[in-house]
Amino acid sequence: MKVVIATHNADKLEEIREGINNLGWEVVSLEEFPKIGEIEENGKTLEENALIKAREVFEKTGFPTISDDTGLEVDALDGAPGVYTARYAGENCSYDDNVNKLIKDMDKVPAANRGAEFKTVMVFKDKNKELIVEGVVKGKIAREARGEDGFGYDPIFYVEEYDKTFAEITMTEKNKISHRGNAIRNMIDTLKDNYPQYINQKDKEMA
Ligand code: IMP
Repeated sequence: MKVVIATHNADKLEEIREGINNLGWEVVSLEEFPKIGEIEENGKTLEENALIKAREVFEKTGFPTISDDTGLEVDALDGAPGVYTARYAGENCSYDDNVNKLIKDMDKVPAANRGAEFKTVMVFKDKNKELIVEGVVKGKIAREARGEDGFGYDPIFYVEEYDKTFAEITMTEKNKISHRGNAIRNMIDTLKDNYPQYINQKDKEMA
Protein backbone atom coordinates (compact mmCIF):
# COMPACT_ATOMS: atom_id res chain seq x y z
CA MET A 1 0.00 0.00 0.00
CA LYS A 2 1.44 3.33 -1.11
CA VAL A 3 0.33 6.52 0.65
CA VAL A 4 1.14 10.17 -0.09
CA ILE A 5 1.53 12.59 2.80
CA ALA A 6 0.15 15.89 1.51
CA THR A 7 2.77 18.25 2.90
CA HIS A 8 5.90 20.15 1.92
CA ASN A 9 6.81 20.47 5.62
CA ALA A 10 9.72 18.08 6.32
CA ASP A 11 9.21 18.22 10.12
CA LYS A 12 5.55 17.30 9.89
CA LEU A 13 6.39 14.54 7.42
CA GLU A 14 8.98 13.04 9.76
CA GLU A 15 6.51 12.96 12.67
CA ILE A 16 3.79 11.37 10.56
CA ARG A 17 6.26 8.84 9.14
CA GLU A 18 7.29 7.79 12.63
CA GLY A 19 3.65 7.53 13.71
CA ILE A 20 2.63 5.19 10.88
CA ASN A 21 5.91 3.33 10.64
CA ASN A 22 4.37 0.11 11.99
CA LEU A 23 1.78 -0.19 9.25
CA GLY A 24 4.22 -1.49 6.64
CA TRP A 25 3.13 1.11 4.05
CA GLU A 26 5.27 2.76 1.42
CA VAL A 27 5.09 6.39 2.52
CA VAL A 28 6.00 9.16 0.07
CA SER A 29 5.74 12.92 0.28
CA LEU A 30 5.05 15.69 -2.20
CA GLU A 31 8.79 15.69 -3.00
CA GLU A 32 7.93 12.75 -5.25
CA PHE A 33 5.40 14.92 -7.12
CA PRO A 34 7.24 18.17 -7.91
CA LYS A 35 4.45 19.35 -10.20
CA ILE A 36 2.23 19.82 -7.15
CA GLY A 37 3.32 23.20 -5.83
CA GLU A 38 2.06 25.06 -2.78
CA ILE A 39 -1.61 24.31 -2.19
CA GLU A 40 -3.66 27.35 -1.28
CA GLU A 41 -5.15 26.79 2.18
CA ASN A 42 -8.09 29.18 2.03
CA GLY A 43 -10.55 27.22 4.18
CA LYS A 44 -12.23 28.80 7.19
CA THR A 45 -11.49 25.86 9.48
CA LEU A 46 -8.69 23.34 10.03
CA GLU A 47 -11.01 20.64 8.65
CA GLU A 48 -11.68 22.58 5.44
CA ASN A 49 -7.94 23.10 4.93
CA ALA A 50 -7.11 19.45 5.60
CA LEU A 51 -9.79 18.42 3.07
CA ILE A 52 -8.51 20.91 0.45
CA LYS A 53 -5.01 19.39 0.68
CA ALA A 54 -6.15 15.75 0.72
CA ARG A 55 -8.53 16.20 -2.22
CA GLU A 56 -6.04 18.07 -4.42
CA VAL A 57 -3.22 15.62 -3.79
CA PHE A 58 -5.44 12.56 -4.27
CA GLU A 59 -6.84 14.01 -7.49
CA LYS A 60 -3.35 14.71 -8.86
CA THR A 61 -1.59 11.51 -7.73
CA GLY A 62 -4.33 8.87 -7.60
CA PHE A 63 -2.75 7.41 -4.44
CA PRO A 64 -4.44 7.27 -1.04
CA THR A 65 -3.51 10.53 0.67
CA ILE A 66 -3.10 11.71 4.25
CA SER A 67 -3.21 15.42 5.07
CA ASP A 68 -2.84 17.31 8.33
CA ASP A 69 -3.86 20.82 9.24
CA THR A 70 -2.83 22.15 12.62
CA GLY A 71 -3.77 25.17 14.70
CA LEU A 72 -2.68 26.60 18.02
CA GLU A 73 -5.58 27.87 20.14
CA VAL A 74 -4.53 30.15 22.99
CA ASP A 75 -7.07 30.64 25.81
CA ALA A 76 -6.03 34.23 26.62
CA LEU A 77 -6.41 35.16 22.92
CA ASP A 78 -9.91 33.66 22.63
CA GLY A 79 -8.66 30.73 20.57
CA ALA A 80 -6.36 32.70 18.23
CA PRO A 81 -4.32 32.19 16.13
CA GLY A 82 -6.31 29.00 15.29
CA VAL A 83 -6.68 28.60 11.55
CA TYR A 84 -4.19 31.49 11.09
CA THR A 85 -1.42 29.78 13.07
CA ALA A 86 1.03 29.61 10.13
CA ARG A 87 0.63 33.34 9.33
CA TYR A 88 0.19 34.78 12.83
CA ALA A 89 3.00 37.33 12.30
CA GLY A 90 1.95 38.05 8.68
CA GLU A 91 2.23 36.47 5.22
CA ASN A 92 5.56 34.69 4.59
CA CYS A 93 6.65 35.04 8.22
CA SER A 94 9.18 32.66 9.76
CA TYR A 95 8.72 30.32 12.74
CA ASP A 96 10.79 32.77 14.81
CA ASP A 97 8.53 35.69 13.79
CA ASN A 98 5.47 33.77 15.02
CA VAL A 99 7.14 32.69 18.26
CA ASN A 100 8.33 36.24 19.01
CA LYS A 101 4.94 37.76 18.27
CA LEU A 102 3.18 35.28 20.57
CA ILE A 103 5.70 35.88 23.38
CA LYS A 104 5.06 39.63 23.02
CA ASP A 105 1.25 39.33 22.81
CA MET A 106 1.26 37.14 25.95
CA ASP A 107 3.64 39.38 27.86
CA LYS A 108 1.07 40.64 30.38
CA VAL A 109 -0.81 37.35 30.75
CA PRO A 110 -0.34 35.76 34.19
CA ALA A 111 0.76 32.15 34.68
CA ALA A 112 -2.74 30.93 35.54
CA ASN A 113 -4.14 32.12 32.22
CA ARG A 114 -1.47 30.85 29.78
CA GLY A 115 -3.26 27.68 28.71
CA ALA A 116 -3.29 26.65 25.03
CA GLU A 117 -4.18 23.69 22.87
CA PHE A 118 -2.69 22.34 19.68
CA LYS A 119 -5.27 20.75 17.41
CA THR A 120 -4.59 18.64 14.33
CA VAL A 121 -7.27 17.62 11.88
CA MET A 122 -6.10 14.67 9.80
CA VAL A 123 -7.76 13.37 6.65
CA PHE A 124 -7.29 10.05 4.87
CA LYS A 125 -8.67 10.13 1.34
CA ASP A 126 -8.92 7.46 -1.30
CA LYS A 127 -11.34 6.74 -4.13
CA ASN A 128 -14.06 5.48 -1.76
CA LYS A 129 -13.80 7.46 1.42
CA GLU A 130 -12.77 10.61 3.26
CA LEU A 131 -11.95 9.74 6.86
CA ILE A 132 -11.53 12.72 9.22
CA VAL A 133 -10.07 12.59 12.74
CA GLU A 134 -8.72 15.03 15.30
CA GLY A 135 -5.92 15.03 17.83
CA VAL A 136 -5.34 17.57 20.58
CA VAL A 137 -2.84 18.29 23.34
CA LYS A 138 -3.09 20.82 26.14
CA GLY A 139 -0.14 22.90 27.32
CA LYS A 140 0.93 26.40 28.29
CA ILE A 141 2.61 29.22 26.41
CA ALA A 142 6.07 29.72 27.94
CA ARG A 143 7.43 33.22 28.56
CA GLU A 144 10.58 32.53 26.51
CA ALA A 145 11.74 30.05 23.88
CA ARG A 146 13.50 26.92 25.16
CA GLY A 147 14.99 23.95 23.28
CA GLU A 148 16.41 23.27 19.86
CA ASP A 149 14.28 20.38 18.55
CA GLY A 150 10.91 20.35 16.87
CA PHE A 151 9.56 23.19 14.74
CA GLY A 152 7.04 26.03 14.65
CA TYR A 153 5.81 27.01 18.11
CA ASP A 154 7.48 24.03 19.83
CA PRO A 155 10.02 26.19 21.77
CA ILE A 156 7.19 27.99 23.63
CA PHE A 157 4.69 25.12 23.96
CA TYR A 158 5.23 23.81 27.50
CA VAL A 159 3.76 20.45 28.54
CA GLU A 160 3.33 19.37 32.15
CA GLU A 161 3.86 15.64 31.37
CA TYR A 162 7.54 16.29 30.65
CA ASP A 163 7.93 19.63 32.48
CA LYS A 164 9.54 20.81 29.23
CA THR A 165 8.67 22.54 25.97
CA PHE A 166 8.10 20.43 22.85
CA ALA A 167 11.48 21.69 21.59
CA GLU A 168 13.27 20.21 24.63
CA ILE A 169 12.10 16.62 24.03
CA THR A 170 12.75 14.09 21.27
CA MET A 171 10.38 13.58 18.37
CA THR A 172 9.46 10.15 19.79
CA GLU A 173 8.59 11.72 23.16
CA LYS A 174 6.60 14.45 21.42
CA ASN A 175 4.66 11.95 19.29
CA LYS A 176 3.58 10.02 22.41
CA ILE A 177 1.42 12.92 23.65
CA SER A 178 1.19 15.46 20.84
CA HIS A 179 -1.78 16.67 18.81
CA ARG A 180 -0.29 15.01 15.71
CA GLY A 181 0.57 11.75 17.53
CA ASN A 182 -2.99 11.59 18.90
CA ALA A 183 -4.47 12.31 15.47
CA ILE A 184 -2.35 9.51 13.96
CA ARG A 185 -3.51 7.03 16.64
CA ASN A 186 -7.13 8.05 16.03
CA MET A 187 -6.62 7.65 12.29
CA ILE A 188 -5.15 4.15 12.71
CA ASP A 189 -8.18 3.16 14.85
CA THR A 190 -10.54 4.56 12.20
CA LEU A 191 -8.66 2.72 9.44
CA LYS A 192 -8.93 -0.54 11.42
CA ASP A 193 -12.73 -0.13 11.32
CA ASN A 194 -12.95 1.00 7.69
CA TYR A 195 -10.06 -0.79 5.99
CA PRO A 196 -8.74 -3.64 8.20
CA GLN A 197 -6.87 -4.94 5.14
CA TYR A 198 -4.64 -1.81 5.15
CA ILE A 199 -3.37 -2.51 8.66
CA ASN A 200 -0.65 -5.14 8.80
CA GLN A 201 -0.46 -7.95 11.34
CA LYS A 202 2.36 -6.42 13.39
CA ASP A 203 0.24 -3.38 14.15
CA LYS A 204 -2.91 -5.43 14.89
CA GLU A 205 -0.99 -7.36 17.55
CA MET A 206 0.25 -4.15 19.14
CA ALA A 207 -3.20 -2.60 19.33
P1 IMP B 1 -0.22 23.84 8.92
O1 IMP B 1 -1.15 24.89 8.36
O2 IMP B 1 -0.94 22.65 9.40
O3 IMP B 1 0.90 23.51 8.00
O4 IMP B 1 0.50 24.42 10.21
C1 IMP B 1 0.28 25.68 10.69
C2 IMP B 1 1.42 26.15 11.52
O5 IMP B 1 1.29 25.56 12.79
C3 IMP B 1 2.83 25.81 11.06
O6 IMP B 1 3.34 26.76 10.23
C4 IMP B 1 3.60 25.80 12.36
O7 IMP B 1 4.01 27.09 12.67
C5 IMP B 1 2.56 25.39 13.36
N1 IMP B 1 2.65 23.98 13.73
C6 IMP B 1 2.06 22.92 13.13
N2 IMP B 1 2.36 21.80 13.78
C7 IMP B 1 3.17 22.15 14.81
C8 IMP B 1 3.81 21.41 15.82
O8 IMP B 1 3.73 20.18 15.92
N3 IMP B 1 4.55 22.13 16.70
C9 IMP B 1 4.68 23.48 16.62
N4 IMP B 1 4.11 24.21 15.68
C10 IMP B 1 3.34 23.56 14.77
